[in-house]
Amino acid sequence: MNLHDLLVAQITANGPMRISDFMADCLLHPDFGYYTTKNPFGASGDFVTAPEVSQMFGELIGLSLAQAWIDQGSPASFALVEFGPGRGTLMADILRVTKGVNGFHRAAQITLLEASAKLRALQGETLQGYTPIWIEAADQIPSMPIFAVANEFFDALPIRQFVRDGAGWRERQVGLDDKALAFGLGPNTPQPALVHRLEDTNDGDIVEDCAVASPFVNTVGLRIKQHGGAALFIDYGDWRSLGDTLQAIKDHEHVSPLVQAGQCDITAHVDFEAIANAAPCPYSRVTPQGVFLERLGITQRAQALAQNMDSDVLNAHIAAHRRLTHPDEMGNLFKVIGLYPEAGSPPAGLEK
Ligand code: SAH
Repeated sequence: MNLHDLLVAQITANGPMRISDFMADCLLHPDFGYYTTKNPFGASGDFVTAPEVSQMFGELIGLSLAQAWIDQGSPASFALVEFGPGRGTLMADILRVTKGVNGFHRAAQITLLEASAKLRALQGETLQGYTPIWIEAADQIPSMPIFAVANEFFDALPIRQFVRDGAGWRERQVGLDDKALAFGLGPNTPQPALVHRLEDTNDGDIVEDCAVASPFVNTVGLRIKQHGGAALFIDYGDWRSLGDTLQAIKDHEHVSPLVQAGQCDITAHVDFEAIANAAPCPYSRVTPQGVFLERLGITQRAQALAQNMDSDVLNAHIAAHRRLTHPDEMGNLFKVIGLYPEAGSPPAGLEK
């Protein structure tokens, strides 16, 4: 049995399924899910994320969070939180760069939200010498100030897709076409959550809705509102997304999301407007990753690191700097939004 056959049997018995349920099974099915069974990261995996491109990414995030901690009076205990830490590289870079920040490590309870047991084990190995705790849901975040980051986490949360049809919407579903998985459309129904999208769409347009993102952001934002702290959410997407952004990646190539279920990474663009609307605390302007990293001094950091490099290592380092920041690479596709308390200001690198 594999996930594809399991889903075909399920759809044969119960009818077409929502894309959100399909996506959740593909990524996190206990026996066949992509994140539950694989280590997808790095050159030998399926895709490379920003912290895997260069240590500079995590270092600058670490300095932004540490500065926010200092600006808020260096609270004596706080949760240093990462959502969806992958193999733990970003948190390891944050911890290395903040070693010199007086009192930061002593005050920090490293808290990792991770659904995959396999990746939890990997994160534990990467963070040897530290004592992280793992949580399974946002409401388990400790009730204390939180300084938090999520990179390429929201894009993995399940979305539903709707096709505009008059004043209503038809949901895109995963069904069967001669025993193969195929997209189809459900009946026309009104969608109260999409009323605001009647103003900027026409018949046939596809819009996406990530129902779990809003309560998640609300919970994180409430911690910040009540106890102080900051959160940085980095992902690809924009203020409002239009069209089909569901994509699957395997071996660094785009593939159809419907073939090889559970064998490839499935993501969708993040709707930053929905994140902003769900925040119960102030949020920053949505800022391109390249601009954010330049403001935090990535070029100076890159030059300092380059002093000790030559030939191939130096060329790879220059390419990594470009990849993270250049508008034609990750610099513009990826965006950053920051959450912060009423009495505070946006984390370094971001503005109101
Ligand atoms: N932040 C890392 C990894 C990004 S991949 C990096 O930048 O390299 C997405 C991560 O989120 C994985 O660790 C995956 O297991 C985790 N994840 C995905 N959906 C999740 C969910 N619903 N709850 C908790 N973790 C989840």
